[in-house]
Amino acid sequence: MNKNIMHNNVMHNNVMKKIMCCLFSLTALAAGSTCAADAAVQAKSGDKNSAKEPAQAAKPEDTEQWEPVPVKVLPGANDAAPPSDAIVLFDGRNLDQWVMSKDRSSARWHVEDGALVVDKAFGNIETKRLFKNYQLHLEWRIPANIEGEGQARGNSGLFLASTGTEDQGYEIQILDSWENKTYVNGQAASIYKQAPPLVNASRKPGEWQVYDVVWTAPVFRADGTLETPAQVTLLHNGVLVQDHFQLLGETAYIGKPVYRKHDRAAIKLQSHHDPSLPISFRNIWVRELN
Ligand code: MG
Repeated sequence: MNKNIMHNNVMHNNVMKKIMCCLFSLTALAAGSTCAADAAVQAKSGDKNSAKEPAQAAKPEDTEQWEPVPVKVLPGANDAAPPSDAIVLFDGRNLDQWVMSKDRSSARWHVEDGALVVDKAFGNIETKRLFKNYQLHLEWRIPANIEGEGQARGNSGLFLASTGTEDQGYEIQILDSWENKTYVNGQAASIYKQAPPLVNASRKPGEWQVYDVVWTAPVFRADGTLETPAQVTLLHNGVLVQDHFQLLGETAYIGKPVYRKHDRAAIKLQSHHDPSLPISFRNIWVRELN
């Protein structure tokens, strides 16, 4: 092929490309479509109509979910009162929902003036029912005339899942932390020996305090190994103090936390072996989240 013929062929191809391009643009315009350049300009200028024009444009209703409809739950008369789907664990009257941790016999703490008072002579108590994931509300009070210091000043504990007859499980610390120095991962609202609270939201001894907990139990494989760790979120007197904290294992007083396979478990309250006056509980309820 000589140079002239080659040149003519290239020219011919370019002309054809231009004609095809124009025809395509005209067809697109006739169909009411918007060319890419115009769309870009409109998108840049924030033109709301631009999203409606293409035939397959996304619609607001594309992302609306209508089913399943969330179950109606009637809230309590105030935010501390149990909602309609709660299991009430203590309402100020009796210990029917509780047993001794050591042998599952009837719970032997006292009910005084609508409050559940720890009896240190008898040890820990736990729920008759077993739980997996849940939301828990619990109120506790350090005696106004509390004495002692550090870990020996109003010590108790909320075990989110009891895994043994003594202090085995996952403990949120209960302690007088109003003006009482101790290691920070052992003060009130800590995940004992694992995570200090984000802030110290303690009230004075003699005043009622509130824990609102969301507990996600650990999941284990058939061979006993951990699949997903436990997670806890805690509000102390309405203040966020643990935010989706992933536990490293069960609470260990000495040594590192370790996971041991367990299934559904009781919620346990601690009778701590220190000489300070016993603490009290009231208004305890739980909502299962299984
Ligand atoms: Mg404790």
